[in-house]
Amino acid sequence: MLEVSGLTTKYGAISALRDASLSVGAGEVVGLIGPNGAGKTTLLGSIAGLLEPSSGKVTFEGVDVTKASPEALLRSGMALVPEHRRIFVDMTVEENLKIGGITRSGAERSESLKEMAELFPVLRDKWDTAAGFLSGGEAQQLAIARALMSKPKLLMMDEPSLGLAPILVDLVFDLIDQLRADGRTILVVEQNATRMLQAADRAYVLRSGEFVAEGTGTELLERSDLFDTFVGG
Ligand code: ATP
Repeated sequence: MLEVSGLTTKYGAISALRDASLSVGAGEVVGLIGPNGAGKTTLLGSIAGLLEPSSGKVTFEGVDVTKASPEALLRSGMALVPEHRRIFVDMTVEENLKIGGITRSGAERSESLKEMAELFPVLRDKWDTAAGFLSGGEAQQLAIARALMSKPKLLMMDEPSLGLAPILVDLVFDLIDQLRADGRTILVVEQNATRMLQAADRAYVLRSGEFVAEGTGTELLERSDLFDTFVGG
């Protein structure tokens, strides 16, 4: 579904991402792990049209989308749950969700609102609450639900467990398991390497802007050298 080849993205003269290639097949959960500053967010931003790569190619469902705008990518079926959630704190849960479905018709959006209320009971109970009053775990669920409102073919998440209490980290990974069981295609950036490798079909390890390993979650979990050197446990 997604093919990234030879992607390099720079901030000024500094290459934050160098010659990165990855693929995500339909129905796969793919993890992207690596330490702080490895270039994970840069890679997601480059795929989602938020950053312009200086070289390389992004293909989505066979179409070259390297230079496509974030809006065009959203319309073609890519949705991103950004780092730090970036929900609209002055708007209610429902209003946040409606924004997530902005590219769709009223009827489709209503249908998806019902789905989100079922998938996220916590949000259903706070439908009319301003998002700024949600707890960290609730806010993360809202950010994920908002992305799902566009009915994406590919859901990308940037550090969904960041800053959450352990029990809420469990909740996020349970949700990833549930979405995977529904057959959704997901690319997840995580610093929580162990949990990500347990949840992913395959994963890539990024360090200092370059991929240093790739494999199934099980294979990479056995590579203790990677954990010690690149991820830090
Ligand atoms: P984190 O887990 O801390 O979010 P990351 O793996 O997502 O890290 P990136 O945020 O992609 O890493 O950053 C990769 C590199 O690019 C880092 O060295 C970072 O300092 C640098 N960088 C990121 N954003 C910018 C920017 N807007 N301007 C300049 N340098 C940046």
